Amino acid sequence: MLSTDTSIYIDVQPTAHSRITELDQDNIPFGRVFSDHMFIADYKDGAWTDFKIVPYGNLSLSPAASTLHYSQTIFEGMKAFYNKKDEVVLFRPEENYERLMRSCERMCIPKMNKEIFMQGLKKLIDVDRKWVPKSEGSSLYIRPFIFASEGFLGVRPAEEYKFIIFTCPVGAYYTQPVRVKVETKFVRAASGGTGNAKTGGNYAAALYPAKLAQEEGYHQLIWTDAKEHKYIEESGTMNIMFVIDDGSKGKILTPPVGDTILNGITRKSLVLLAKDLGYEVEERPVTVAEIEGAMKNGNLTEAFGVGTAAVISQIAAIGIEGIDYELPAIETRKISNHILKELKAIRSAESEDRFGWMEKV
Ligand SMILES: *Cc1c(COP(=O)(O)O)cnc(C)c1O
Repeated sequence: MLSTDTSIYIDVQPTAHSRITELDQDNIPFGRVFSDHMFIADYKDGAWTDFKIVPYGNLSLSPAASTLHYSQTIFEGMKAFYNKKDEVVLFRPEENYERLMRSCERMCIPKMNKEIFMQGLKKLIDVDRKWVPKSEGSSLYIRPFIFASEGFLGVRPAEEYKFIIFTCPVGAYYTQPVRVKVETKFVRAASGGTGNAKTGGNYAAALYPAKLAQEEGYHQLIWTDAKEHKYIEESGTMNIMFVIDDGSKGKILTPPVGDTILNGITRKSLVLLAKDLGYEVEERPVTVAEIEGAMKNGNLTEAFGVGTAAVISQIAAIGIEGIDYELPAIETRKISNHILKELKAIRSAESEDRFGWMEKV
C-alpha cells in the first residue's frame, strides 16, 4: 500500500472573480458550468508534486502531449451533496481512489498516495463549498482525472502527467426510461483489453455503435461479450441489473465484474444493500437468451442501469435482433424503487449509515 497518514501541502490560489452569482440554482445546465476552482498535481522527475488549487481555467499543453495521440488517460466520476443535517458529504470516495489506482496500473500511469487524492478532493470541495447545490436531488459532480502531459511522440509510458480534479453542480434531472438495443456486432470490451479501466479510449470507441443505435431509435446499447455476443455485460456506461419474478420476494440478477465489466461502485453498493434488505442477488453470467425468454413469458419485471450519474436508469424496452420487448411500467418496479429509496435515505442521513459509506467534508 502506498498510503500513509501524512498531510500534504496544498497551495491555494483563490479566484478574485467568483462566478457563483451567475449560477441559477434552479436551472443548472448539465456538464457546462464548472465551479470556481480546480485541484492540480504534477508528476515529474519520478514523483507527484506541486499540489495546488487554482481558478478553473484552460490548460496550456504541448500539442505533442501523449494523451492527445495515444490516449494515456484515466478518470473517475463521483458526487458531493448536502445531507439532511446540512453537511457536505461524499459517497465512498476511497472506492474511487482505489479504482483510479487500478486504472493507473492498467494504463501505465504512476500511482499516487491516497492522501494526495483525498486531501486534494476534500480541500477543493471545501474551497468551493458554496457550489454544492442545496435543492432536493441536486449534487456537485466531481471529475478527477490523470493524463500524460509529456510532449513526446514516442509510444511508451509518458514521464510527465497531470492529475486534476474539477467539479460542476448538477441539478436533479429526471432520467427518462431508456430504450436499449442488445449489441451483437460491435464490442465495448474484450477479455484482456481495457474494459475494467476508466480510460478515455473505451468511451471514444463506444460512440459509433451508440450513434448507429440512436439512428435506429434506441437511446443506448446493452453490450455483450466480445467472443459470442451471448452474455450481457453492461448498459451504455452503466452496470446492469435485472429482476426476475420467480414467485419469491424477487431475484436480482447482475453479471459479475471482471476484466470486461467495470467494477461500478453503485453496483457494488446496491448489491450489498439489496441483500441487506432481504432480496436474493445472483452475481453470475447472464445470457441474452435467458433475458429474452424471461421477457417472452413475462417473468422479467425490471431492468435498469446503475452508475454514479443517474444512480438508477430504468430500461423501458429492450431490442434483440430487431424485436422490441416492452417492459412493465416504471411504477410497478418495486425492487429498484425500494433499493433506490434506501440508498437515497443513507446518502441523505435519513437512514443510519450502517455500512460506513458516507464521508463528511
Ligand atoms: C463509471 C462506469 C460505471 C459505473 O461506475 P460507478 O462507480 O457506479 O459510477 C459502469 N460502467 C462503466 C463502463 C463506467 O465507466
